[in-house]
Amino acid sequence: VGKHYMFMIRLKLPGGRMTAKQYLDMDRIAGELANGTLRLTTRQSIQLHGILKANLKPTIVGINETLLSTLGACGDINRNVMSCPAPFVNDPVRNQMNQLCDAIAEHLAPRTKGYFDVWLNGEHVAGGDGAEEFEPIYGKVFLPRKFKIGFSLPNDNCVDIYAQDLGFLAIVEDGKPIGYNVMVGGGFGRTVGKPETFAVLSKGICFATPDQVVAAAEAVVKLYRDHGNRGDRKRARIKYLVADWGVEKFREVLAGYLPFPLVLPKDAPITGVDLHHGWQPQGDGKWFLGLSIQNGRIKDEDQMRLRSGLRDIVATFQTDVRITPQQDVLLCNIETANRAAIDSKLAEYGIPRPETLSVLRKFSMACPAIPTCSLAISESERALPALIDTFEKELAEMGLGDEAISIRMTGCPNGCARPYNSDIGLVGRSGEKYTVYVGGGTLGDRLNFILKDLVLRDQIIPTLKPLLERFKAERQPGEGFGGFCARLGMDTVRAMVGAEAPA
Ligand code: SF4
Repeated sequence: VGKHYMFMIRLKLPGGRMTAKQYLDMDRIAGELANGTLRLTTRQSIQLHGILKANLKPTIVGINETLLSTLGACGDINRNVMSCPAPFVNDPVRNQMNQLCDAIAEHLAPRTKGYFDVWLNGEHVAGGDGAEEFEPIYGKVFLPRKFKIGFSLPNDNCVDIYAQDLGFLAIVEDGKPIGYNVMVGGGFGRTVGKPETFAVLSKGICFATPDQVVAAAEAVVKLYRDHGNRGDRKRARIKYLVADWGVEKFREVLAGYLPFPLVLPKDAPITGVDLHHGWQPQGDGKWFLGLSIQNGRIKDEDQMRLRSGLRDIVATFQTDVRITPQQDVLLCNIETANRAAIDSKLAEYGIPRPETLSVLRKFSMACPAIPTCSLAISESERALPALIDTFEKELAEMGLGDEAISIRMTGCPNGCARPYNSDIGLVGRSGEKYTVYVGGGTLGDRLNFILKDLVLRDQIIPTLKPLLERFKAERQPGEGFGGFCARLGMDTVRAMVGAEAPA
């Protein structure tokens, strides 16, 4: 008997949008061919875990039969394009962002027929030299590594624009989008022991009007294709080009790729972030309901039958589904008359309404890590809920229970749950030990820094406690925990907890 190899399959799902039928088909496929759970991701997609090798093809066929795809969800090409998922139907900004999100996803999709040949027709890939004519943007060898794009708004940075390889930040005048700041070079992946790899926020490079956005994306991708590091995969991301060249040189080189004159970006600081939780009017007489999904894992467990409950609600009320960058779910297009029945179903299935959860839990995120990610060196998704339980109690006792503190955990330094710009970042280092970061915030516009390295998981909260006490006593009006730590600076906060500078 051969080994039972197990795989993960990820959807490409621009803006995290799917119909009720597509969600129900994914739920069915998860039950029949995967491990019976759906895992919402930080890039508004769905992963199916535990797919045995023999089930790979039927799974991909099933996904395509419901008019979804996995093409471009992995690999050295443009990945899932993100956009704010809130379905405010009369909002010209979000509507345009979604249209451009789809346009870029389509424009940068690989042209190769290989995917269809391998997975959908059972034929072999046609190889050989003719690839260029099928890949007008990527050429013969695709990109140096993966490439991530997102659309965001200054007053609602739920997409975490500074973490994207390429971000489009909407510039709004009189309620209308006049264009986008083109932000390049964000990214959180790094490798332990390699200081030449690091997390960094994207930089404002130029401004593009709405009709220039797709061309701008193509230009940045082509620049990356031509100049990205193809000799060292650890330094193959576009962020290292921006970091090594500097913004001025990057602009100069990019100007040669843009089919329009380069205009400098506008001043547009990030002022807000919205998790889109709870009942909210869409603007067309209907409602959407944002639910907090702990670490994005949709499953039935004990009293909380989340997967069954969502299936029932989506099937009964035909709610379209949107996935948020916080790994949460929005159920959309709900008639006013159905709200009470949906609330009853939430209670029936033990699904918590967001207003009953702590702000800490709602802002928390973990990557999948052990046992489904082969790169994981520490627990993340399975460890964070218990940590939050303890942390909630501590914060409540300290009178900080309503504080918006973002805590993000990953099982390795790759940073899939974006731990490097949160108030508290916990990055797996080895087994039970984590690097603890502080100094970011919920807005996502500031990197955090190492507070202490190699902290045992059960020592994380005791380590943070003296800092939280000082925060409570000495914070300035309106200051969040991460902002407090950043204002004091890393030397001061490390001294407060008795930490030495990491080696
Ligand atoms: Fe896996 Fe590391 Fe990404 Fe977590 S951060 S999912 S452990 S690669």
